Amino acid sequence: MPFTLPNLPYPFNALEPHIDARTMEIHHGKHHNAYVTNLNNAIAGTDAEKLTIEEICKNISKYPVAVRNNGGGHYNHSLFWTIMGPNAGGTPAGALADAINAAFGSFDEFKNKFSAAAAGRFGSGWAWLIVDAGKKLQITSTPNQDNPLMDVAEVKGTPILGLDVWEHAYYLHYQNRRPDYIAAWWNVVNWNEVAKRFAQTQ
Ligand code: MN
Repeated sequence: MPFTLPNLPYPFNALEPHIDARTMEIHHGKHHNAYVTNLNNAIAGTDAEKLTIEEICKNISKYPVAVRNNGGGHYNHSLFWTIMGPNAGGTPAGALADAINAAFGSFDEFKNKFSAAAAGRFGSGWAWLIVDAGKKLQITSTPNQDNPLMDVAEVKGTPILGLDVWEHAYYLHYQNRRPDYIAAWWNVVNWNEVAKRFAQTQ
């Protein structure tokens, strides 16, 4: 089995009160785990078993829909766990802060635009901060488990921050109140990890 469920880098309750322990437990142990299992099943015996998840995403149009859905699910959640953390939130610093200010005017402007992209994604999907081919920051969103690495994405680039707005990410605690979940989520963003991912694109 080429792909495995990564460990959550903190305890299930580490993001409380913003994201509750039970949601984290089900989200990581059931949802993400199922994406990994189904991805492995979907590529069993094919050349894709030798590829990285990034390589698969970049050529996703060549694969069956099960690879798109579950491969996207695996990539997206693997990123999601790392860009959150306990004692996080606040604002970014250094080169990332400069790039956000340059692209969006200010951190608050960025936050508003990103929140609007997350709130406005109809149904299930993700909001993203990406670095595009011209090395510029952009906000975008994708349906289902698609992501901006995919050759089918409307706006392509390397994700450095992603927000899961599937109901499974927030329904137990927030029910239909997606905007409340989004507002709370800013308190758990691990800007050090986002800055690290940003630096890798420069
Ligand atoms: Mn999810």
